[in-house]
Amino acid sequence: MNNFVTIKTIVDENFQDYKKASMFIAFPKCDFKCFRELGLDASKCQNYEISKMKDIRVDVSEIFERYTSNPITSAVVLGGLEPFKSFDEVYSLISYFRTNGCDDDFVIYTGYYPDEIKEHINKLREFENIIVKFGRFIPDSVCKFDNLLGVNLASSNQYALNIKDVK
Ligand code: SF4
Repeated sequence: MNNFVTIKTIVDENFQDYKKASMFIAFPKCDFKCFRELGLDASKCQNYEISKMKDIRVDVSEIFERYTSNPITSAVVLGGLEPFKSFDEVYSLISYFRTNGCDDDFVIYTGYYPDEIKEHINKLREFENIIVKFGRFIPDSVCKFDNLLGVNLASSNQYALNIKDVK
């Protein structure tokens, strides 16, 4: 278990990634697969500027206190870069919230598809209220409204599922 997470930034109130007002946490690592696989430069990624920000280490208890003391938010969004590249810390963070009585929704934005991260998905199934947005970002793809998230996703191949519904 990690008592801390290494991240890029925290936004206390975010309204663009989920239907509920959310705390947004930006994780620090990605291999820029969405772009490299297409032969494109990593700098084309919309999160590229985030990758240049300084890493910060934050105690999970501090994030918990910050989240639970804000009456506006009722969910936590974990996003980009790529949270599954920091899986142990993601797991520890969610574990801490659950152990301390917070069952609020966690929404994880990943560029992976389920079969690429099977072990991690299986581990997260022990928790309630975990939603994962799957799929690569494809440049110039058409936006698609996702009913579960209640927001538009950037590429038509992307979709969100409750972790319990992932095959
Ligand atoms: S997973 Fe996210 S951060 Fe990584 S390349 Fe795709 S869009 Fe960029």
